[in-house]
Formats: sequence, C-alpha cells, structure tokens
Amino acid sequence: MEHNTRYDVQALRGDYPILSREIYGKPLIYLDNTATTQTPLQVVDTIRDMYTGHKANVHRGVHTLSQEATAMQEDTRRLVASFIGAESSDEIIFTRGTTESINLVAASYGMLLEPGDEIILSVMEHHSNIVPWQLMAERRGLVIKVIPMSDAGVLDMDAYRSLLTRRTKIVAVAHVSNVLGTVNPVKEIITEAHKAGAVALIDGAQAIAHLEVDVRALDADFYVFSSHKMYGPCGVGVLYGKRSLLEKMPPYQGGGEMIKSVSFEHTEFAELPFKFEAGTPDFVDIAALHTAIDYMTGIGLANIAAHEEELLTYTTPRLLEVPGLRIYGTAPHKSAIISFLIGDAHHYDTGMLLDKLGIAVRTGHHCAQPLMHRLGITGTVRASFALYNTLEECDSFVAAVKRVAAMLG
Ligand code: PMP
Repeated sequence: MEHNTRYDVQALRGDYPILSREIYGKPLIYLDNTATTQTPLQVVDTIRDMYTGHKANVHRGVHTLSQEATAMQEDTRRLVASFIGAESSDEIIFTRGTTESINLVAASYGMLLEPGDEIILSVMEHHSNIVPWQLMAERRGLVIKVIPMSDAGVLDMDAYRSLLTRRTKIVAVAHVSNVLGTVNPVKEIITEAHKAGAVALIDGAQAIAHLEVDVRALDADFYVFSSHKMYGPCGVGVLYGKRSLLEKMPPYQGGGEMIKSVSFEHTEFAELPFKFEAGTPDFVDIAALHTAIDYMTGIGLANIAAHEEELLTYTTPRLLEVPGLRIYGTAPHKSAIISFLIGDAHHYDTGMLLDKLGIAVRTGHHCAQPLMHRLGITGTVRASFALYNTLEECDSFVAAVKRVAAMLG
C-alpha cells in the first residue's frame, strides 16, 4: 500500500478522539466530511481557553478581558483575510455560516436591483444558494436563470454565456459541488460575469478546506464559507466581499455594534466590517476558527488536496468493481466526494447498512433537489473524504459496500 509522505496522517488522527470511536463494535470510518468535518483537539482547546480565561464581550469594554477578546476576534479577521488573499480585513464579515452569508448578500445586494434584473445560478447549487435568491426575486421582481450541466456533472459554459444579458446582475455558483464533487471553473465564470457587467458570488463551502483559495486571483466579488466544514467550530461563517460593493450595500440586520450613532430620528451606520455585524458576534468560536486555519496551513492546503486526491483516485475504480454500482459526478476535475447508487437499492437502505458496519456516509438529496431532478433520482449515498482519512479506511469502505451490495441483492 502506498504511503502518504506529505504528512503523517496516523499521527494527525490523534488530534481527533472521535475517530477512535466504535459504532456497533466496528471502528468508526467517518466519510461524511462534506456535511461537517471533525474538530481537532487544538480547536477544542481554544474554545475551552476562551471560556475559562478570556470570555468578555468584544468591542464594548475598556477592561482588559474585553480588550483581549476583541484582539482575538480581530486577529482572526486578519488571518481569514490573508488565508483567502483578501486585500483588507475590512472585507471579512463574520456570519453564522455559508447560509447566512448568502442570505446577507441576497437580501442586501438584492435591494440595489430593479424589477426584471436577472440572477444566474447553476443546476448543481445547494438549497442555500437557491432559496435566498428566490426570496429576493419574489420581493423585487427578479428573474432567475439556471446554468445546465452535462451528465458527467460539468457545467455547460456555452449555455452559461448565452444566459448572460445586460440585465444579468448576479451570478452565484458553487466552487465545488457538495454532491458531484465537480470543481467548477469559477475564474472563467467570474470573468464572463464581469464582461456582462454582473457581480459573482462563489459558494466556497466545499472548497475552503480542500483547495487553495485566492479571492483576488479569482477576482470574486463575494466568497462565502462555513467554519464547521474546515475543522473549525460550528456557528461561524465568513462573507468576503469587495469593499466597493459592501460599502454601497444597505445593512442586513439592525442592532448593536453596527451603528455609529442612533437617535429616534436617524441612525448612522458603522464602517465596514461592523456595518454587517449586528449584535454580539460568536467571538469564542471566531477565536477558535483562528486555530483551525493555523492547523490547516500547518499541514498545507496543497498537501491536504494531494492527499484527498489520492484517496479519490484510489477508491473510485475499486468502488466501480461493485456490481451495479453507479457514480454520479465524473467530472475530470473533481474533489474527493463520491455519490453513488447500487442497482435499484434505496440510498437510505445502503446508508443504514453501512452504518451497521461502522461507516458514516450521508444519504438523501443533500439539499440539492433541483440537481436530483436533473439526474432523475431522489437521492444518493455520498462518501466524502478529509485530511485524516486513510487508504486503509478506503479499503474497508469498499469492502463494506461490496457486502452491502450482496445483501441488497
Ligand atoms: N453550500 C454548499 C455547497 C454546502 O455544501 C453547504 C453545506 N452542506 C452549504 C452551502 C450550507 O452550509 P451551512 O449549512 O454551513 O450554512
């Protein structure tokens, strides 16, 4: 068996006590990383340190604890900015997650649009990158258009170009599909959007922990992601937006911290990034996100990507040996996500039997019902890999799928 020389996977697994759990007496093999990644002890320690030694509300205090907590939050903002290549930390807005980041842009940027203006999405979007736009489209009389894809799960770029018109104002597309694993050509998508005078939002939920992301190299107008999918804590997300756009957008929520001055006659809003951060932020988890980013960069995103690519190219052909197994998502450029079905077996039955063998996979529509409709299915079984998965786990997974396939006939 090949050995990963990029980093010591076995040693890193010690950072994740949960990976030593047994499920039905079998070692847990966690392949639901697309839904959420596990959290290393280093990140948990930061949360503990925050609660035991630093907890104080940010921004509002002259006292030492408050200043420390504020400094930690703003350190994370600077680290996020450099992690994704943003020009300034003022362009980093903390939210609750990808979903809230997209809702923020849809609700706020949407107010700048006129009836008849057009939004382009792709057929493989997560509901989080569909429903916020639909809500805004209803309120503002906007039109939504959809980029189709090939059976392999590759976006049809000619069709995309033909959808762009002078009325196109926003293009919102996933960097990586959470079902198919397709890595979309987002740089090209953004360039074409700009040529048409539109702005582009990239849903980076499935890219941020698996690829090197540089928002300036991409020239993305908005880029969004969640901490819990990048080895960080739950409850925190990021909206990156170009300063020129964020400055002209109206606030999303009103409350404390997002104001400069308030009277009953008139309120003046705070500067970026605080204009979009109403209320007490999740400063504990924001501090822990810092640790998660340090953790990933300590290993190196390129190393993580190469390791996951190895897991994907190792597992795919072996899985295809299972009689009747079909993989959904066979784009040439894909991330380590494998969606599949076996014969006529229901995805739920396959997932339940795999669970009995200790294997955690996700089943269902994966919050991508329009994509399921395009594929003519109701759901898939999805295995998704992360930096701590091993080739041995891939072998056990394939063996388990073979057993389940035999059981299901
Ligand atoms: N977009 C994509 C592509 C996703 O995979 C997910 C999570 N499954 C989301 C958006 C939503 O992320 P969250 O639930 O963390 O807001």
